[in-house]
Amino acid sequence: MTNPNPSDKALVPFVSVDNMMRLVHHIGVEDMLRGLASEIESDFKRWEQFDKTPRVASHSDVGVIELMPTSDGEAYGFKYVNGHPKNTSEGLQTVTAFGLLADVYTGYPTLLTEMTLLTALRTAATSAMVAKHLAPKGAKTMAMIGNGAQSEFQTLAMKAILGLQNVRLYDIDPAATAKAARNLEGLGVNVIMCKSAEESMEGAEIITTCTADKQCATILSDNMIGAGVHINAIGGDCPGKTELAEAILHRADIFVEFPPQTRVEGEIQQLAEDHPVTELWQVISGTAKGRVSDKQITLFDSVGFAIEDFSALRYVQAQVKDTPFFQELDMLADPDDPRDLFGMLKRAT
Ligand code: NAD
Repeated sequence: MTNPNPSDKALVPFVSVDNMMRLVHHIGVEDMLRGLASEIESDFKRWEQFDKTPRVASHSDVGVIELMPTSDGEAYGFKYVNGHPKNTSEGLQTVTAFGLLADVYTGYPTLLTEMTLLTALRTAATSAMVAKHLAPKGAKTMAMIGNGAQSEFQTLAMKAILGLQNVRLYDIDPAATAKAARNLEGLGVNVIMCKSAEESMEGAEIITTCTADKQCATILSDNMIGAGVHINAIGGDCPGKTELAEAILHRADIFVEFPPQTRVEGEIQQLAEDHPVTELWQVISGTAKGRVSDKQITLFDSVGFAIEDFSALRYVQAQVKDTPFFQELDMLADPDDPRDLFGMLKRAT
């Protein structure tokens, strides 16, 4: 088939998984985590400019498929993401994603990209950016419970942004811990492999839970949590999927992304609808308090919000410009005469 209009085609930059990996190595993982954290932090500071809606979730017995849209009035973005804890046992990823940016003025897409790697990077960048505001000052040690796909990214972001020195790994599957330890070798973090969640928490100022199980699990029970720690709870992100004992929530000051989404998906689904929580954007923009004492237990009840993906999409769009790390996709029908869509089809015979 001949191309009826080769020169003026509106082509859309596409970042494949291969190109995303090239981009990450080109920038450097830690620099990219810092860049993403800074983009996310600036977008949290202008929170009120965004369209916000809880993500649209389609649940099944085995997992969830979600769409996460937002717009700042100039650009529009969405991510497609799934969460299927049973996938690992079938040799598949628990979480995969892709995303799109578009121009609000024309409605035309301006970027399509893989977001499986990008989600791991943006989730880790968000965790570390939040920990910068909430974790005890000078925190050096993190317990990392759940050593799957997200875990090395979480560790490296805490190193890049907070100066974390030690990570204490624990997973119910020792093979996952061994994998994470291997991957983190030589990356400047002292790795300690632990045999229980309790052991992983010895001396830890930050506790990250990042497990995948489609149930209300108790990864952390109340007696495991001492005063003054920061809990970065990543894996409770769906109705009926939580990681913390309810009693911990009553002792902690809870910080969330977007309450209407977190009340349904986060750890706080276990609490009354009116249980007080603080919105992170207010802490980041200085209108609400973060950590106020050494004794306080702070909890980031992370579920992942569309604005973090929007920030990540815009970061990638800026970074791939003038690089070879993208292809151009012919995904927009764009006839010379906008009303002559059929004519374009007819001429292509
Ligand atoms: P993964 O399946 O690759 O890893 C999960 C790990 O948890 C596995 O190694 C598993 O053995 C371990 N695990 C399960 N139950 C455990 C238990 N009781 N104790 C210790 N370890 C246990 O998944 P992933 O991609 O690393 O994602 C982890 C979780 O984070 C998922 O639940 C996912 O939905 C969630 N997630 C949240 C966000 C966010 O923004 N909040 C973003 C991405 C992923």
